[in-house]
Amino acid sequence: MTERRTGLYPGTFDPITFGHLDIIERSVKVFDLVIVGVAVNAGKGPLFDIDERVAQVRVEVAGLGDRVVVERLDGLLIQFAKAQGASVIIRGLRAVSDFDYEFQMSSMNAKLAPDIDTICLMASDRYQFIASRLVKEIAALGGDVSAFVPARIAKRLVDRLSRGA
Ligand code: ADP
Repeated sequence: MTERRTGLYPGTFDPITFGHLDIIERSVKVFDLVIVGVAVNAGKGPLFDIDERVAQVRVEVAGLGDRVVVERLDGLLIQFAKAQGASVIIRGLRAVSDFDYEFQMSSMNAKLAPDIDTICLMASDRYQFIASRLVKEIAALGGDVSAFVPARIAKRLVDRLSRGA
């Protein structure tokens, strides 16, 4: 029997965008199981709290079947990966600006855990400009974000931001 290949896709997902969903859909083609790790990342001051983000991601990936699971990610990434039985960390690469950060992260993680590798998938053409941070800025200014995030997320953004938060 061949070993089950498990990949961990970590991120803040504040909120999940079509760019993230594209990476998840493509990862399912490569891995037997994809764990989407939603990072607590309180330091980043997320708009949606961890429970909201986990729930949002779960709803948006529901159509992808049981080879995608969503978990709350607290603490050190490589410890979480090991605990989940994931041998590969999946990241998405957009422009050159992502590269420095991802390269540094993967190098440090490789030092901490040489048996866990990082794989970066290139952002798809049509989504490579999408960033959660910009989506939030546009929504806060009353812009239409429906081209960047699923309809449910767009609505949640309007609800949250129109409350003057
Ligand atoms: P983090 O705080 O860990 O950077 P994000 O939720 O911003 O979390 O992103 C998670 C991962 O998804 C990162 O590797 C990021 O580069 C990637 N990513 C974000 N937006 C896109 C996109 N539009 N296309 C492809 N990958 C993306």
